[in-house]
Amino acid sequence: MRAMALHEDVLVLTSRIWQTNAAALRAGGECMLADSPYFPDELEMLPGVLAQAGFRPDALLATHADYDHVLARLAFPDLPLGVGETTMERIRAQPGEAQRELREEDARNYVARDRPLGLGGVRSLPVPGKVELGNAGDELELHPAEGHTADGTAVFFAAAAVLICGDYLSDVEIPWISTGGSVPAYRRTLERLAPVVERAESVVPGHGSVQTRDGALGLLEADLTYLDALEAGRDDLPPGRDTVRQREIHRDNAAEHVP
Ligand SMILES: [Zn+2]
Repeated sequence: MRAMALHEDVLVLTSRIWQTNAAALRAGGECMLADSPYFPDELEMLPGVLAQAGFRPDALLATHADYDHVLARLAFPDLPLGVGETTMERIRAQPGEAQRELREEDARNYVARDRPLGLGGVRSLPVPGKVELGNAGDELELHPAEGHTADGTAVFFAAAAVLICGDYLSDVEIPWISTGGSVPAYRRTLERLAPVVERAESVVPGHGSVQTRDGALGLLEADLTYLDALEAGRDDLPPGRDTVRQREIHRDNAAEHVP
């Protein structure tokens, strides 16, 4: 796991797998951890790595309910986990889904864990909406971000001009229309995120490198171009993301989400 200080109040932790990013946000004496690394050793060292940099989470947040984004509970079992309303609906509609998919992925990777993932006591957050962070008037803006899946929330931390967008705007993953997602919803999310990216200095994607504003705007354009190609039946992957794995994702996108 790699730790990178993006701002004095933002620490980004990148997992060894899928370049999965977690981000700790700090303001007014409070700290929120968004998303999570994957491996048990990364989760075990997470509280220590954060504390060393002065980040002590009071709450967790997940951008969406995919198992690879809700694992912080394994590191901080007693902290509340906040999710957007759409994610809450997904968790209620498919109880145990994240746990089952985590077990399957762990089995594929021969990963063993000491304890099961508990997702009890999840709290629903207003989206679109704002939540306070700390006692100095700082806020996290929550923006709807569906399309990758049926649920999704992007978090804009205005005090640091950092956008945590979930599984969008990645330099390593093409737009992935996963179960419950759709091309039109994905497009709407990109269109909705564009003005937020304009206000951001940095964008932390669910997977991949932290982007500057211009880098993220470039990815946003490339992703819209990819969706056009996908709907037109062409196999044009975005530049720099044409890999064997991304071709598999593209094939699934085309098979399941293009009429
Ligand atoms: Zn993901």
